[in-house]
Amino acid sequence: MSDDCLFCRLYREGDHVAATDGFVAIRDINPQAPVHLLVLPERHVATFREIGEFTADETKRMLEFVANTAAAEGLKDYRVVVNVGPSAGQTVFHLHWHVKGGWS
Ligand code: AMP
Ligand code: ZN
Repeated sequence: MSDDCLFCRLYREGDHVAATDGFVAIRDINPQAPVHLLVLPERHVATFREIGEFTADETKRMLEFVANTAAAEGLKDYRVVVNVGPSAGQTVFHLHWHVKGGWS
């Protein structure tokens, strides 16, 4: 947990659209699609580069939660995006998975 991290704070206090042990989904404040969710792990890991900090079980459960959250939102087709590093568009340095869909 990092006191000055926005997503650590939103994990604790945010408006969650879905949650499971160790992971939550929130709505992006500036949606780039009709449905734009962010899946966050509880554990503060700054970028996807450090994906190995999660156990195999956590990684599997995190990805299943991405898929389950999309399904629960009624999305059949969607994009899952992770921006890795500032020049790739990462602005919040707490790993998160963008889930974008709802175009049709
Ligand atoms: P990234 O640019 O990949 O690091 O993604 C960060 C995302 O967080 C952006 O799409 C922002 O719109 C979103 N965001 C920033 N602040 C908030 C907030 N308070 N609540 C929800 N989403 C946010
Ligand atoms: Zn954090």
